[in-house]
This record gives sequence, C-alpha cells and structure tokens, in this order.
Amino acid sequence: MTIGTMTLSTRILIADDEPQMLASYRDCFAIGPASNDELAALGADLFAGGNEAPTAADFSNICFDYVSQGEHAVAKVADAINEGDPYAVLFLDMRMPPGIDGYETATRVRQLDKNINIVVVTGYSDHSPMGIAKVAGPIDRLFYVTKPFKTSDIQQLAQSLAARWNHDIALRAAHQEVENKLTVIEKVNVQLAASEARCRHISLHDHLTRLPNRTHFGDFTENLLLRGKGPVSVLLLDLDHFKNVNDTMGHAAGDELMRQLADRLRSETPEGALLARLGGDEFALAVEGITEAAAQKLANQLVKVCAKEFEIMSTRVFVGASVGIATNTTESIGVSQMLRCADLALYAAKNAGRNTWRLFAPEMDESAQTRSHIERRLREALKTDNLRLVYQPVIDLVGGSALGYEALLRWTDDELGDVPPALFVPVAEQCGLASTLGEWVIRNAVAECATWSTGYVSINISPHHFQSRDLISCVMREAASHDLPLNRLQFEITETAMFTNPLHAAEVITQLRSVGIRIALDDFGTGYSSLVNLRDFELDCIKIDKSFIETLGEDRQASAIITSVTAMARMLGLNVVAEGVETAAQVQALRLLGCGMMQGFYYSLPLASAEMPYHHVSDEVVDSEPLPGDAKPLAA
Ligand code: C2E
Ligand code: CA
Ligand code: CA
Repeated sequence: MTIGTMTLSTRILIADDEPQMLASYRDCFAIGPASNDELAALGADLFAGGNEAPTAADFSNICFDYVSQGEHAVAKVADAINEGDPYAVLFLDMRMPPGIDGYETATRVRQLDKNINIVVVTGYSDHSPMGIAKVAGPIDRLFYVTKPFKTSDIQQLAQSLAARWNHDIALRAAHQEVENKLTVIEKVNVQLAASEARCRHISLHDHLTRLPNRTHFGDFTENLLLRGKGPVSVLLLDLDHFKNVNDTMGHAAGDELMRQLADRLRSETPEGALLARLGGDEFALAVEGITEAAAQKLANQLVKVCAKEFEIMSTRVFVGASVGIATNTTESIGVSQMLRCADLALYAAKNAGRNTWRLFAPEMDESAQTRSHIERRLREALKTDNLRLVYQPVIDLVGGSALGYEALLRWTDDELGDVPPALFVPVAEQCGLASTLGEWVIRNAVAECATWSTGYVSINISPHHFQSRDLISCVMREAASHDLPLNRLQFEITETAMFTNPLHAAEVITQLRSVGIRIALDDFGTGYSSLVNLRDFELDCIKIDKSFIETLGEDRQASAIITSVTAMARMLGLNVVAEGVETAAQVQALRLLGCGMMQGFYYSLPLASAEMPYHHVSDEVVDSEPLPGDAKPLAA
C-alpha cells in the first residue's frame, strides 16, 4: 500500500484449522516464485487481459498472518481495520471446527471490511458460490480455490489480489480527491452565483436609497420603448435646495434626506413603473401606458410630496423639487434622447421658478442646439487662437492705484459675433473644454502679465479646470517659461469649485498657496457658503459679487452682508474686493462699510494688455500715475 511517498506492507490473512494446511501456506509464501509463464497465464485469467499480471512472485512487501479459527480471523480483521492497516486478502477455509465455519466467518468479515478480497479455499462444496456471494459479496471480491491447491495458484492469487487491492486503494483515493474537488467546486459555484447576484444587485442599485440606479433605469426604459406596448413617459426630478442641506447640516443629513425622499417617491410610484436614483439629488421615473395628462398629474404629485417638510436630525427641513417630463407619444426615440428631453424640461421647470414641473416642448431644444453650435465654434476658436484677454484693474482705495488686473476672456466669432464669456464658459464646462480653455487663459495671461512692470494678474478658474490634476503643473510651467514670479498670480475660484469636493479643494488651495499663488473666492454671496465654512479654506481674498453692490442703498441686507464680510475678512487677514462698482455713491458707501478694494466700470472697463496705461515694462513708467481712489473714473 502506498500512502504519499511511503510504502507500507500489504497484509494477507490465512484462516485454516489444519496445522498442516497452515504449514503449506507458509511454505508457499516462503519458497521461491512460480515461473513467470505460469504467473502470467493466471494473471490473464484473473484480470481479463492481464495488464495487471505480475511478472514474478515477490512477497517481500507482504505481511502474512495465520489463524486457525473463524473467530480469530474476524478479530484480526477488526483489529486491522481499527489500526487503519486492513488486510488485502483473506484465504479462508470453509470448515474450521470447533468454531464458526467459513460461511459465517466470511459473513462477519464482509460486514467489517467491504474491500477485503476473500478467497474461499475448500475441498467440499457444502456452500454454493451464490450462497456465499450473497453474504460475502460482491462477487468481484470473492474467489474460489479447491483443495488440494497448487502452490503457484495460491502464490499468484496472493500476489495479484494484493496488487489489485493496492490499485483499488489508489483508485478510491483518486476518486475521493476528485469528489472533494467537486465538492469544493460545487461550493465555490454556489458562492459565485450568490456573489454574482449580489454584484448584479450592487451594479444596478444605489447603495444609499436601495433604488435602481442609472444603468438599471436605462435598461428598463429601453425595454419599455422597444416593446412598444404604449406611450412611455420619463419624469426627471431634481431637488431644489439639496446643496443647502449638505452644506449647512453635513453629509449625514443629506444622506438621511435622500433616504426619506426615496421613500416618499416610492409611495407615489405607480404599479409597473420604475423609480431610480440617477445620482446626487436626481431621481427618475419611467412609466408605461399613461396619457400625457396622467404624467403631468403624477409630476404634480411628486412635486407636492417633495415640498412637504422633512424632519432630519430633529430639524425641520424644506427642499422642494422640479420635474421635467418627456413622453414618446408622437415619435419613436431612444432612452438617451428621452432623458435629454426630460432634462430640458427639467431645466425649464427650474427656470420657471422651481418647485414645479414642465412637459418637454420642442422649443426647449433650441437652446441645446445653440449650445452645440457654440461648442463647435469654440473648438474652432481654440484651434485658430481666435480668443483674447482683457484686463480690469483692482483698485486699492488707500494707495489709490491698481494692485492687479483680472483677466477676462473675449471672443468674437465670425458666425456668432461677440459671444459673452457668461455664455460660452458654461458651454466649455459642459462639453469638456474647460481645461483646454483654462490652459489657454493661463498661457496668455501669464505671458502678458510678464510684460507689466508690476501688479498681479487674477485668473478665473472654472470648476472643472480647478478639479484637473494638471492645473498646478500648467501654471508653474507657464510662469517659469516667462520668468514670472508666482506671487504675481492670483486664481479666482467660485464656491461651486470649492464646495463640490471641499477636501480636494482645500488640498489644491494649500498647494497653490505654498508656491506663492494667491487665491480669491469669486462671486461671494451668490452660492451657498456661509462665512463660517469659509474658515476651513486658506484664502487670500474675497470678491463680493456685484449683485450686492448693485443693490447697495436699496437693500439693507446687502450692506449688512458687506459689513460682516469685511469685519470677518479683517479678522481672518483677508482682502475684500467689491466687484461691479459703477458709481461714486457706491464707492462712498463701500468705503463707509469698511471695504477698501474695488473693481468696476467706475474705475476702468476691461482693457487689452496693450491699451493698459500703466505698468508696461517697455514703457519704463515704473512710478505709475496714482489712480484716483474715489475721485475720478478712468473710463465710463
Ligand atoms: P466675473 O468673474 O464675476 O467677472 C466680472 C464680470 O463683471 C466681467 O464680465 C466684467 O466685465 C464685469 N464687470 C466689471 N465691472 C463691472 C461693472 O462695473 N458693472 C457691471 N455690470 N459689470 C462689470 P465678463 O467679462 O462678461 O465675464 C463674465 C463672467 O464670465 C465672469 O464673471 C467669469 O465668471 C466668466 N469669465 C470671464 N473670463 C473668464 C475666464 O478667463 N475664465 C473663466 N473660467 N471664466 C471667465
Ligand atoms: Ca472673477
Ligand atoms: Ca466675480
């Protein structure tokens, strides 16, 4: 028997009551082998073909035990099994008085050991082979030899059966191994199926609300559209002031609001429709077979449930939602087109003052068409360098001169004419041109600033460009190539850029400041940031949006905000710039409110670098004429 690399001896048991017979056995296994021919012939008989036929009798690896009684044989077999070293063969006499006979012995032995080969050796035929096979079978483990036997028969049998027994063991081990492997494979299969189902669920659902996600929604709606059982409506819902909740109460509160909102929307979802969370605070519903009027009624219902107060962390919260509806009643359109139409309708709902719904109308698509026209032309303008920068000074009231200049983009297109940046910069953001455009601005602003003898250039950085990894390397490269010290650069970023990903923003800001670039927060007051969370960012300057300056004198809140921003900024050591200053009265009011830096048409329109009257290195006018603080506008 072979276990791993170790070969154990094979065991054979002989049971015969006649001492003479036992002696013959002993002789048989002790004396030399039978001739090879004889062995081969017998082996071929036994194993039908004789592959397994041994070529010579060799008993060195076989261990023999001899007993004279059936009970002893049974006991030996039992011990061997218990020791884990069972017998391969039992040579069994049929009559062994006074104890149990061979038939009974074979019966008991077989009960103990189902693998042992039993060789019935008898001179009498008092038990039919069939009878013995019944109790000691199977027949392929039962053999018969008649007395008196030929030595070679016994030798051959002993050796062949021992070999076969060893083969069987190896085979069983191999079977077992395969079976074990199969069990493992089966188990792994079950686990795989379970995790596949889980993965599938995860890949199709939103983890926060457990609602289907965008992919799931797309598949479902596509199916509805393909089977064409009836008109399909897509309702796109967007919360109106979700960002406020996130910013003022934290993300945990935002998550809680999303969950509660999902529950409310679920309860309004008609049978057979699919409600999904597409991302952020955007949800979508796909319904089949309802009229446009019914879709509008449903949208109305959704707006209504969102307008009801929420209780988030023991605080009452009001949000409200806008809904855009698209139905495919008239033409066959795909999912993405449906979503685009619903999105345009949603945009219209938001423009209509929020907290309402709009049904898609073809006119809404025009703005999208204009957008894509602008996009095409803008790509062309970037290619042909058909853009310019103009610069508007930032005036320091105390020194009465320009401290720096804000770079503002200008674009005159052959087809579209003058396109204001407020129109094309957002298009660039949407179509993935933000970084390309931003890099164009940095390149040109840095090059032009390098021709001025003093003053910094303040560059507007769009939210997407601000997220870009290449921002810092780009500005460093451009500054180095024009020998412009980095402290002559300021970046203007908006609250949107800062609060979309505040941790990343804080990191980028720290990096930029560490190389000397100043950071200004642009359009302060139009977004969501409060003075309190501004403390989390290392800023140099806050630019108060021109809408506050405009309403100075009319709106008491505007002056209150300006007063507190200036006070807070002073405490934090920040500069405050008032944007869009147009009149002497505004200058006066701002001065009283504590604001010392200004920018606006009152002082100067934005000018091309070459037209700027001050600071040109080539002009050698280093001591520039001081700008008249609040006295006299430079340009009207
Ligand atoms: P902004 O950053 O708030 O820029 C100030 C805007 O106010 C400029 O408009 C400027 O011309 C205008 N302005 C200056 N003084 C006055 C004034 O006294 N009264 C009024 N009513 N307006 C004044 P502009 O150049 O049309 O730019 C609009 C916006 O487009 C900018 O707002 C900025 O958000 C964006 N923008 C402009 N250039 C760039 C740029 O290079 N990159 C990026 N990302 N955005 C830019
Ligand atoms: Ca700006
Ligand atoms: Ca601004």
